Amino acid sequence: MVLKRDNTRMVPVFIFISCILTSATTNAPHKMNNQKVLISSNDFPETGLKVLHEHFTVVQSRFNNFGEEGLKENKEELLNLIPGCSALVWISHHPITKELLDKAGPNLKMIAAASAGYNHCNVEELKARGIKLSNTPNVLSSAVADIAVALMLAASRRFTENLGQVRSGLWRIGFQYELGQEIRGSTVGIIGLGGIGQTVVKRLVGFEVEKFIYTGRKEKPEGKALGAEFVSLDNLLAQSDFVVLAVPLTTETKLMINSTTLGKMKQNAILINVGRGDLVDQDALYDALKSRRIYAAGLDVTTPEPLPKDHKLLTLPNIFILPHIGSATERTRSDMAVLAANNVVNALQGKPLITPVLQ
Ligand code: NAP
Repeated sequence: MVLKRDNTRMVPVFIFISCILTSATTNAPHKMNNQKVLISSNDFPETGLKVLHEHFTVVQSRFNNFGEEGLKENKEELLNLIPGCSALVWISHHPITKELLDKAGPNLKMIAAASAGYNHCNVEELKARGIKLSNTPNVLSSAVADIAVALMLAASRRFTENLGQVRSGLWRIGFQYELGQEIRGSTVGIIGLGGIGQTVVKRLVGFEVEKFIYTGRKEKPEGKALGAEFVSLDNLLAQSDFVVLAVPLTTETKLMINSTTLGKMKQNAILINVGRGDLVDQDALYDALKSRRIYAAGLDVTTPEPLPKDHKLLTLPNIFILPHIGSATERTRSDMAVLAANNVVNALQGKPLITPVLQ
């Protein structure tokens, strides 16, 4: 038996499907599919991708910014993908090069850095080209402040030495061995009382800190509200048992902790850096820790990153180093991605950036 196909019965189905498709395209709110947004590596959280997909055509590098090979492959991939893109989401602490901006051409309106710091973003070049720049402050303050407090505890309670004992099985058990210092009763000095610096103070409230002091470009009302006293840098270095670096890396702050400033610190002082590696002269820090000029240090950021495993800082017992994990929690990375994506949406819809660096 031969079945005869009745095409006329299919017509209403085609009309129904095409109606749905048309309405899906026309009803999509603010969808600007002709605008392309490039994501600089393959590890952007789904939550941020979802926001971008709702509005734009998203192109994404297949590579990560990790290791020599990843960096090389990613660099080439980005140079190939960027022509014609209207926005770039930059998930990296590596510099945004002039070469990449040249390749982008005149379509590129904005860059959304998925970080609070933007020292790597070539701000002057972006300004000259009229390209907007956003960052992701505030949403990461809690996570980074947690790591600052973790580093304070790790450095003051000698985690590096103590972990070494656990790993070797040779525990020095005794009443007077491996004694550390306490946060209780201490003076904590914050260099840069911004989003992160303020959250560190809030986190430490239960630790019975004797005194909070801070330094910066100017006194801040938030300082008063937190019970922190504004002092000069020299005064902070002279008084503090813990010195917490939470400033951006700029020409002003580069190497602000050096042999001179380390020389002004108390002998029991503990230096914490959650800002950027280049805030600290690492050779001077090594000398100060080795000679016990200061007591200890805790770093989330170093120069370079990764720090080579045979770096001399890693030979010291009185330093605790983390691999730049300040904002590395699922919740915070997701929040950063959504904020970066919403900055792109605003920029390409002609609205003000939510967290502008260059508006
Ligand atoms: P923020 O809210 O902008 O705060 C920065 C603070 O530093 C502000 O209070 C600012 O004072 C102060 N400051 C600027 N220049 C200074 C100077 N020359 N001397 C002293 N203080 C100065 O930034 P944030 O979100 O707290 O982040 C701070 C930095 O932490 C970022 O720039 C980034 O480099 C780093 N960071 C690291 C991680 C990590 O994973 N470890 C994560 C996020 C951020 P004014 O208010 O007077 O300008």
